[in-house]
Amino acid sequence: MTRNAPTPDANADTNADGAAASLKASVLVEALPYIRRFAGKTVVVKYGGNALAGTSDHDALALFAEDIVLMRLVGMRPIVVHGGGPQISALMARLGKEPEFLDGLRITDAETVDIARMVLKGQVNPQLVAAINVHGRFAVGISGVDAGLIRATARDEKLGFVGDVTQINPELIHGLIDDEFIPVIATIGSDETGQAYNINADTVAGAIAEAIGAEKLVYLTDIEGLRRDVADATSLIRQATADELDELVAEGIIAGGMIPKVASCTHAVRNGVHRAHILDGRIAHVLLLEVFTDAGIGTMVMQHRDEPTLDQPLEGALS
Ligand code: ADP
Ligand code: MG
Repeated sequence: MTRNAPTPDANADTNADGAAASLKASVLVEALPYIRRFAGKTVVVKYGGNALAGTSDHDALALFAEDIVLMRLVGMRPIVVHGGGPQISALMARLGKEPEFLDGLRITDAETVDIARMVLKGQVNPQLVAAINVHGRFAVGISGVDAGLIRATARDEKLGFVGDVTQINPELIHGLIDDEFIPVIATIGSDETGQAYNINADTVAGAIAEAIGAEKLVYLTDIEGLRRDVADATSLIRQATADELDELVAEGIIAGGMIPKVASCTHAVRNGVHRAHILDGRIAHVLLLEVFTDAGIGTMVMQHRDEPTLDQPLEGALS
């Protein structure tokens, strides 16, 4: 053996523990300026039906719930808006109902809008509420019908009860967040006659973020962000202005389910929402990484590039 006696195991453990502890401490310290910056700020988070339908949905859901609760406990005001397309399709299949599409949009007859309402308000919404409330008494599940939150009108009579948002009446949301609850919103809206409509959850998330003047609008989806080439995973767009996104849409680079997300992001940042983000909901704790660390993640959308380019804490935030 060498002149140095082998390090006793106890010391090695102590050193490893010390390193782990200081790493944990540095992670918390890194979060401090972000916690200060975002205290009291409202963040609208859209949780995609695809994220929920993933193979490890329970784990993903539990991690998502932890992030939302942590945001709330450090003083942010999170609002959750959710979709449920895959779950609606699954129940339709179980009921033996053939989905019909027109230009890629689901034709929603009276029976289909009933199914959508059952799935969103009866299945997906309580799953999210329950996952969040594992950690305390935070989440309240509502739909856009409650207190007239989402007023809607038919997009095109050929599509049946597919709705467009005509008005957001955010009083209920203000009441809930002022009382420190976390609203969890199923995207069913109603018209002035009480008819229900199924509305794209991306569109609703953007409209709510604008109506309440949210600091951030965050989309959790099943891809790492916007790609310049949808088939090329290395083509992630890290930052884009609303004008740049308009060009990408015009060039046909944004397709399918990304279209309503991007349209809502550009509209939101032009109407008072400070930042919009498209993130990969499959990454564990992606919300925490985005909000509380220096790591830029996913795609960030802003109105103009002459603003501070990184979503950094305000200068002097700790002074
Ligand atoms: P969600 O359930 O989150 O709303 P969607 O399937 O509706 O998910 O939308 C996300 C999908 O949009 C991606 O999985 C991807 O296939 C598609 N997409 C289309 N164009 C792009 C693009 N330019 N960059 C990234 N994804 C894109
Ligand atoms: Mg979608």
